[in-house]
Amino acid sequence: MGENYIQLIHGEGGKHTQELIGDVFYKNFNNDILLENDDSAIINLPSKKIAFTTDSFVVNPIFFRGGDIGKLAVSGTINDLVACGAEPLYLSSAFIIEEGFSKEDLIKIVESMKRTCIMAKVSIVTGDTKVVPKGKGDKIFINTTGIGVLDGYVSKYIAAGDKVIITGTVGEHGTAIAVDRYNLKVTGDIKSDCQPLNHILKCLKKYYPHIKFMRDPTRGGVGEVLNEISKKSGLGVHLFEKDIPIRKEVDAINSMLGINPLYLACEGRMIIVVDKEASLALLEDLRKQCDSQASIIGEFTDENSFVYIENYFGGERILGELDGQILPRIC
Ligand code: MG
Repeated sequence: MGENYIQLIHGEGGKHTQELIGDVFYKNFNNDILLENDDSAIINLPSKKIAFTTDSFVVNPIFFRGGDIGKLAVSGTINDLVACGAEPLYLSSAFIIEEGFSKEDLIKIVESMKRTCIMAKVSIVTGDTKVVPKGKGDKIFINTTGIGVLDGYVSKYIAAGDKVIITGTVGEHGTAIAVDRYNLKVTGDIKSDCQPLNHILKCLKKYYPHIKFMRDPTRGGVGEVLNEISKKSGLGVHLFEKDIPIRKEVDAINSMLGINPLYLACEGRMIIVVDKEASLALLEDLRKQCDSQASIIGEFTDENSFVYIENYFGGERILGELDGQILPRIC
């Protein structure tokens, strides 16, 4: 195995590990805190109230239309901070790499993480690299942990009449993964919506007293998140099919596959539950400043306690809880 591939010695902590860290990780994640090279990163936070989250990424394939495992690992952790009303500041990243993985692909992934960090104004300040023998992993797994400072407080007291906003079109990440994993022949511009969502924080600022809940609809998609909130709150969710933004191409592929895109992961969207009073103003700000496809897709009701969709003709059907996973390893 030549020097263009990751070898077990790259994970053994000696000279080769140091070379890999210097050439690939420090070169790209270059910042003063990281370059201190201590056992822990020492960081200064502008507030005592912090949000702290972690996530591991095992997506297959590692490169997909609209993103890659690196962009996803940075975006996913940032979005979990944003969902708690926190401004993301610092990340850690730990890599588990299978022996024989291409160094060129590793560099591509790390450069993509760097670009995503710059876009989101966060720094990767500490990390770890391990190499496992060939056949004992699947190419590369990445764990990212994130710290953010609270920007505003999300009350979590959902009441009947509260509105459900989605910040953009639905189901694109899951669809992109399915197309690339199964080499589906498709026409049209299908790509993952994978992106860091810290830019929506500026829209949310003046609405925090009205915001009841936020979550990024990743595994299980919009359908699963709304079922979870419905269960927790004991309220029903009445969705309006005509208001749910789904791109034509996404709809077409999923009809072909027999998949409901409402259960497919988004990796660059947020579900926001907001009181009726502030909902239209928040929607307008989101549309102007973040995504013209943002939409109010439904509302909470105390008439029942499940999630249902009203279709174009006024008929209703239940959007139940997912039983198992539609697509494994989407993140
Ligand atoms: Mg989340």
